[in-house]
Amino acid sequence: MPHSQTHTCHDARTNADANYDCDIAIIGAGPAGTVAAKFLCDAGLSVIVLEAQTFPRFVIGESLLPNCMNVLERAGLLDAVQDAGFQHKNGAVFERGVQYQSIDFRENFEDAGWGTTFQVQRSRFDQILAQTTINAGADIRFGHKVTHAVLRDGDCVLDFENDAGETGQIRSTFVVDASGYGRVLPRMLGIAKSGSISDHSIARRAVFTHMRDHISDPAYDREKILITVHPVRTEIWYWLIPFSDGTASVGVIYPDQDPEFDGLDDQTIFDRLIGDTRLAPLLAKAEPTRPLNAIAGYSAQSDTLFGDGYVLLGNSAGFLDPVFSSGVTIAMHSAELAAKALIARNNGRTVDWDADYALPLNKGVETFRAYVDAWYDGRLQTIIFNQPDADNKLKRMVVSILAGYAWNLENPLVNKTDRYLEMLHDLCDPS
Ligand code: FAD
Repeated sequence: MPHSQTHTCHDARTNADANYDCDIAIIGAGPAGTVAAKFLCDAGLSVIVLEAQTFPRFVIGESLLPNCMNVLERAGLLDAVQDAGFQHKNGAVFERGVQYQSIDFRENFEDAGWGTTFQVQRSRFDQILAQTTINAGADIRFGHKVTHAVLRDGDCVLDFENDAGETGQIRSTFVVDASGYGRVLPRMLGIAKSGSISDHSIARRAVFTHMRDHISDPAYDREKILITVHPVRTEIWYWLIPFSDGTASVGVIYPDQDPEFDGLDDQTIFDRLIGDTRLAPLLAKAEPTRPLNAIAGYSAQSDTLFGDGYVLLGNSAGFLDPVFSSGVTIAMHSAELAAKALIARNNGRTVDWDADYALPLNKGVETFRAYVDAWYDGRLQTIIFNQPDADNKLKRMVVSILAGYAWNLENPLVNKTDRYLEMLHDLCDPS
């Protein structure tokens, strides 16, 4: 994709008047930004997306959940994703020592909707979403970093600097911040919180890489993400996300300020922790295809999700924890909700950003937050590794959340998450 590619919505579909460069300016062309842009363009609004990097670019977040397929479908982005040959994913396998649980996302509580999805190299996935959104009329400007914002509903100005060192401004009626880990507006407006965002959230660190995995174990299921828990220190866990080209994403999460790892380099930590598990023989012939990466203190949230002239999407609004691969699904869900509100605003309706955006988005985020807490305090691991076979309906409720259906109020585990988690834990606790 060229460094700075410009396509605009048809003049006939453009609502911005001559004073504006576009109706809606979006910061960031990750999944949140492109899904929002696609919905808005399809509804006839003119959209400019300013993206700091040149695509393709690496970003972590490679295992999708089935629920995001529904959003991709409604956004008209699914065909392009399905045609790309990504690795099919139908569930998750959890391993802890000799304990093993395989979960099939198709055995969920939903009446309708996707039960399968993909594991994706994000460099390609994000580029496909961006290109399809450009084809639909969005003007995505790569290599354009937003440096400043002046925001007022109906009159917003973003300052940018591009890769050539040129500066400029984009004037729009509203700004969508989908800048992910960049968290442009939260930092600029002083509304960013970081660090602990849930009961059991301490700062954690991830060390990860891509490998040509050479896995030959016939029992290994490439259609599932493998989540391995450290046999002794159960707050340490690992992901193995296979891709369709024989490579895989491998990573480990451990407490950031842990004396056990003081003074050790990333490679030593990675090798030692992998060596403690069954991943070591599974990956015995694996060869790295990327250098090790590390990211720490990634959990974040903002005091507010919207304000005068702006809304925050995806990771810019907040990020919980990678354990249930919920990040991209939440990002896409936020994009769809915000786009619907902006389309209503464009049709002359007054948007109540709390009722129309923040509250419905937070319903699902809170469900995931309860799951994350229950994972790290051990309750969810007990539920996962000791599921009572008898109660199929309860199992389906749990599987639904793991498949990303965290907003379905018909599911008691969404509506009364803590109560049901407690009840399930008591049912499953062998002691
Ligand atoms: P991003 O994908 O980060 O996109 C934001 C874009 O904004 C970027 O392209 C960036 O260049 C651009 N940008 C930033 N600053 C500026 C600026 N100043 N001007 C212009 N553009 C800017 N999620 C999953 O769903 N599945 C997983 O398996 C998973 N694993 C994870 C593992 C780890 C260790 C971590 C930390 C996270 C994981 N996630 C996972 C979460 C996932 O990475 C994010 O939730 C997801 O990428 C958020 O999408 P987004 O569109 O909000 O932001």
